[in-house]
Amino acid sequence: MVTGLVDAQVRAAMFGYLQDLTLRHPEGLPSSELNKFAVGGRPLKLVVQPGIWKPAELSGALTIRTTYTAPNQLPPYEDDISAGGLVKYAYRGTDGNHSDNRALRTAMREELPLAYFIGVAQGVYQAQFPVYVVGERADEHAFLIAVDEAQRLIDPELVASLTPDRRSYMERLTRIRLHQPVFRARVLQAYESRCAICRLRHPDLLDAAHIIRDADEGGLPVVPNGLSLCKIHHAAYDRNFLGVTPDLVVKVRQDILDEVDGPMLRYGIQAMAGERLTAPRQRAAQPDRDNLDQRYREFLAAS
Ligand SMILES: [Zn+2]
Repeated sequence: MVTGLVDAQVRAAMFGYLQDLTLRHPEGLPSSELNKFAVGGRPLKLVVQPGIWKPAELSGALTIRTTYTAPNQLPPYEDDISAGGLVKYAYRGTDGNHSDNRALRTAMREELPLAYFIGVAQGVYQAQFPVYVVGERADEHAFLIAVDEAQRLIDPELVASLTPDRRSYMERLTRIRLHQPVFRARVLQAYESRCAICRLRHPDLLDAAHIIRDADEGGLPVVPNGLSLCKIHHAAYDRNFLGVTPDLVVKVRQDILDEVDGPMLRYGIQAMAGERLTAPRQRAAQPDRDNLDQRYREFLAAS
């Protein structure tokens, strides 16, 4: 290679960099930070064009990307999860011979690990890595992506012969693997990394809570079904120690209000009664009123 960059070193250095960056930015990776990556003292931008990215120095693609759309949509979309759980990643255009598509095909042939950036806000990404290109569906203009090491073992040609149970289990694993971190980052982004109840501003201590539980019908991992809550308020909300009315007012269960205990109970929970939730400014990201209503009824029933 002209520049002396060795493919395997670039990829290993990138994964190390992404691991470090993810620790520092649990709420999502800004593209400005992603583009500070350097290998052997040489800058190498990771987010350059939408879709497939192959730096000139490498023969195979290095990263793939799905850009941010709307708070109520969550990639990979249902249609993008193939039977067996492999993610369908669309060609650049429809010409299989476009240089970007060829770069992804090279990554498939040489079994090169890539990073997959999923948009969680404008210019902010959740990084999934390493991912692998394990197949191609030319008729659908798409490649098949394994999102973790275990999925690499799936032979896309053999998926059809698996039992329906096993197939749907594998599809569920993909949703968990990709949707949960994307949901968390999207909710934290929408709430500017604050607890909606107490306004604590430490992403390390924040979760994305489901309003309608994810096990229930309608419990989708989308921002309008989420609340950014600190760990203690997340657990308190899940266990109905407190509830949130459809008008965004925090209610604390009567027996908890009557209890006498130390500062965590007094200031952390009892004092939140009657507080107004801090919701995102963007209307599309605000908590869904019907979901809040349904969940508040559950809180009242538990009170
Ligand atoms: Zn809190």
